[in-house]
Amino acid sequence: MSNPLLDTSDLPRFADIRPDHVMPALRQVIAGNRRKLDGLLASDKADFDSIVRPLESMEHELARVWSPVSHLQGVLGSADWREAYNNALPLLTEYGTELSQDVRLHDAYTRVAGTLDGDGTGPERSTVNHALRDFRLAGVDLPADKKERFKAIMQELAATKAKFEQNVQDASDAWKLGIDDLDELAGLPAQTIGRARADAAADGRDGWLLNLDYPTYDAVMRFADNRALRENFYHGWVTRASDEGANPDWDNSANIRRILELRLEASELVGFANYAEYSLATKMAASTDQVTDFLDELAARSREAASRELNELTELAGMSVEPWDLAYWLEKLKRAKYSVSDEELRPYFPAATVVAGLFALASRLYGLSISEVPGVETWHETVVYYRVSRDDGEVLGGFYADLHARSGKRSGAWVDDCVNRMRMAERAVLPVGFLVCNFPPPDEAGTALLGHDDVVTLFHEFGHMLHHLLTRIDYPSIAGINGVPWDAVELPSQFMENFAWSREVLERCSRHTDTGESLPASLFERLEQSRHTGAALGMLRQLEFALFDFHLHADFRPGGNTGPLDVLDRVRQEVALLEPPAYNRFSHSFGHIFAGGYAAGYYSYKWAEVLAADAFAAFEEAGIFDPATAARFRHEILEVGGSRDFMEAYVAFRGREPRLEALLRQHGIE
Ligand SMILES: [Zn+2]
Repeated sequence: MSNPLLDTSDLPRFADIRPDHVMPALRQVIAGNRRKLDGLLASDKADFDSIVRPLESMEHELARVWSPVSHLQGVLGSADWREAYNNALPLLTEYGTELSQDVRLHDAYTRVAGTLDGDGTGPERSTVNHALRDFRLAGVDLPADKKERFKAIMQELAATKAKFEQNVQDASDAWKLGIDDLDELAGLPAQTIGRARADAAADGRDGWLLNLDYPTYDAVMRFADNRALRENFYHGWVTRASDEGANPDWDNSANIRRILELRLEASELVGFANYAEYSLATKMAASTDQVTDFLDELAARSREAASRELNELTELAGMSVEPWDLAYWLEKLKRAKYSVSDEELRPYFPAATVVAGLFALASRLYGLSISEVPGVETWHETVVYYRVSRDDGEVLGGFYADLHARSGKRSGAWVDDCVNRMRMAERAVLPVGFLVCNFPPPDEAGTALLGHDDVVTLFHEFGHMLHHLLTRIDYPSIAGINGVPWDAVELPSQFMENFAWSREVLERCSRHTDTGESLPASLFERLEQSRHTGAALGMLRQLEFALFDFHLHADFRPGGNTGPLDVLDRVRQEVALLEPPAYNRFSHSFGHIFAGGYAAGYYSYKWAEVLAADAFAAFEEAGIFDPATAARFRHEILEVGGSRDFMEAYVAFRGREPRLEALLRQHGIE
């Protein structure tokens, strides 16, 4: 076979795959799928074996050809790969829309649903129900004119969201602050100052040049002693792409209104009262009331602790604290109270030791044995491939770990699927994943030292990987992470983070690079105590975002007094402790909800955090390594993918519905 992307007999042939393989491979697979689909639909038969299994298999093959492409685009970041990726996207989107609006296919699935026994909730039933739901959400059963309108809305929405994002980017890029006197930068990390110096030089000027990218903004807000500088940055940040910003061309006010109008219209077309209801159709939360009650209750219960934290900060600052003072005094408080610093922790966490400790934990909890497989082709010499097996010898799957930062690689940390689990009569395929982080690169001796926040990140991503690999579901569209509601996807990952705060686990994950000793008890205690600093204030802030997002998408009506600023006012009266200045327009750069996938879904972060904390509390009650609890978590949560109603699965694990207390305790609130 000449095109290596089409060779799906084993792991991807990373040494051979090139950007110019992408389009021919995709065209061939999609054309083949179209032909097969016509063949399937030409037959009178419509049962699970004759329709759903072949469809699952076709989609699986397409995903398998595509996954190395989207992966390499992220980890190599070369212009060639980005171009190949961008060229391929429209092809995939078009094919996806075509499938989800195909009336013949929808009819076939409806007939299959009628052939399934009873009203059971087995994987076959779930596979069909998920598909039928997605057909409906794509407007498959609308009359032709409305279907056209739905399509047009989706296209205008995509363009408006892209414009929103570009305005934020342009407004951020244009904002610059020249500094002539180094004293004005007092308190900033050397790295930030160094970058500002280099940026000034690149701009052909003396002194320092500060940009409004997130790392710089974050460093200024946390560390700059110069209060006027902090206020200046704060103003720049919260007025980006707004009517209060520097350039009216980048004002997102009209885009926000248009996005809300289009979302409302699309939701109404497919039978929902508003976009919040549309959004919940694919989520674990049962109703809009359930979401707002959840957020309101968390806010009410966090308020007192947040106000205590604010008083403590005011006392330390010796003056009233404004929004641009918060992060700064929180840092000061952390150092004054617990004297814990990243530099002190880092030598204890060589990456190899942390990884070994994490695998030992996976063995203890789930009886997994994880071993490096030498000689597997990868995309970079530091990448390692691991095989994951059960203690009875059954191989479950494998994953690539690409842990270190390098030039061109996308920032952040994530898990993505390489191959989804599929087990059907004709074939059985084991899951394979990509685990990607951006930890500091190894030094000359080959040692990379992690900060404790890096350790937490690694545990988080490993939680996603377990979800992907431990699944026992045979149909790829609901196996592993697939088909799991958006507001529950972060449960396995945030759950795993808790182990990175366990003394016993950290002891096995640490080994001082000079002395060889593991993390001392005294240092662990300081680290643990610092965990709660500012947690309640942070909670209120996230709740303000979540309530704003949700009410806006539930209540917005064109022309009414339910626009962004009205809703924001109401939410702030309910939750905010600090009155932001009148010029604050954070909504105009709130990309998560206006450009990304979090519309009427920002609450998901808190929702999943509650599940994760409550699930971990079950482990604390029984002993955090309790085999029976771990087996239950694995069986009811990690193995089931999207095959079950998620609340049912959770109750099966926990014996009851989730409660807020564990999260509040974890934040030092109750
Ligand atoms: Zn995550």
